[in-house]
Amino acid sequence: MNNPSSSPSPTNQPTDVVIICAGIVGLAHAAHAVANGLTVTIIDRDHHAAGASVRNFGHCCITAQSGELYQLAQTSRKYWLEFAERAGFRAIESGAVVLARTEAELAVLRELSAVREPGQVEVLTAEETRARLGAGAPPAKEADDGDAAAPGAWPGLVGGAFLRDDLRVDPRTTAARLADWLGRQPGVELHWNTSALAFDQDGGLATVSTPRGELKARQVFVCVGHDVDYLFPELAAEHRIQRCALQMSLAAKPTGLELDPAVLTATSMLRYPAFTDMPAAAALRDEVRQTRPELLDIGANIMFTQRPDGTIILGDSHHYHLTADPFQDESVTTTLNTDIEARMGQPLEILQRWQGIYASSDVAPLLVRDIQPGVTVVSVTSGVGMTLSFGLAHRNVSRLY
Ligand SMILES: Cc1cc2nc3c(=O)[nH]c(=O)nc-3n(C[C@H](O)[C@H](O)[C@H](O)COP(=O)(O)OP(=O)(O)OC[C@H]3O[C@@H](n4cnc5c(N)ncnc54)[C@H](O)[C@@H]3O)c2cc1C
Repeated sequence: MNNPSSSPSPTNQPTDVVIICAGIVGLAHAAHAVANGLTVTIIDRDHHAAGASVRNFGHCCITAQSGELYQLAQTSRKYWLEFAERAGFRAIESGAVVLARTEAELAVLRELSAVREPGQVEVLTAEETRARLGAGAPPAKEADDGDAAAPGAWPGLVGGAFLRDDLRVDPRTTAARLADWLGRQPGVELHWNTSALAFDQDGGLATVSTPRGELKARQVFVCVGHDVDYLFPELAAEHRIQRCALQMSLAAKPTGLELDPAVLTATSMLRYPAFTDMPAAAALRDEVRQTRPELLDIGANIMFTQRPDGTIILGDSHHYHLTADPFQDESVTTTLNTDIEARMGQPLEILQRWQGIYASSDVAPLLVRDIQPGVTVVSVTSGVGMTLSFGLAHRNVSRLY
């Protein structure tokens, strides 16, 4: 797969659409264009997708969005499921479980449940939460001597919530499978190891210069993720785009654990807008500030998901820079992983660590900007590009037919 020799130079025939990049945002634009009968050329500078789209949790966090993003997320959900079936990648209607260990956490969940349609956010007791975490919950931890409240599986819970509409995909295989499928569709060219260098116009068409020649199209979507500043420094500066660096780990499969839903915790409720919109979120932030200030210091969103092979993706922290600092502080990873071990009630065997980077802006959660006729820059600048990809792409591509 992805042998450069299997990626010949573009034919340089004009197409309806040129997509710069084979991350999930670019591929979702390509999928909608193909589904609507448009001819498409996709290029990516790398030899296979290796950006944010393969480094994340694979959690389509539909329920915890609000406003415009919530509408986009629900549209995205529909098309994630549709294209999973067409392209043959795994997307499951798993929902997500939020673990609550304090009354302040439960209060946020109750408030969100009250403002959503019945059943979308189901507030759970501790036992119901454990049941949602699957029949194969981790084995009970040995009780410490004299510890009357000896933890069983998922110790310390006071309750939780089930977020019905969330989806799960496998981040390590989804982009590759979607790219392979797109590459086999009529009217599609996919070229790896082909960088977009500059943009212009010629005879009513937009042009893209690449080291393999010039591409022409009626519409170009530039979906370069966090690298907008490399091509359009003024636009990136205006939108105040920074690189958000996240520390992640992969743990070996805990014995017996079969976990479809994504699992979120208190710090997730301090980051996703549907939770932070709730009046009770302020008290929760105060509680975390008093009891676990180190979690706020590292911008933690402690959550985890299980891959199809049983391994667990653990994360994450958030550090913001124009150029991401490559040096990862081990104490950050220890803080995250120790917290997850405590929630599961058992130690985890760490197999891999990595850094993920996504585009972040305090100006707006999305950047969609026509920078010249027929050239549109698209970047999700709020860390939920998996969640929004197919909905955002649907909205953008719909303008073309
Ligand atoms: C650790 C981590 C966890 C996350 N968890 C979640 C989650 O659970 N749910 C969620 O919704 N979102 C999550 N996100 C965010 C999500 O992963 C991103 O928003 C999304 O993947 C961005 O997709 P993209 O296609 O824009 O960027 P990328 O996947 O980074 O792809 C960009 C592509 O552009 C190519 N490229 C760049 N410049 C050029 C050029 N000049 N010419 C050609 N090609 C170029 C690169 O090679 C790359 O393939 C997470 C992100 C990280 C890092």
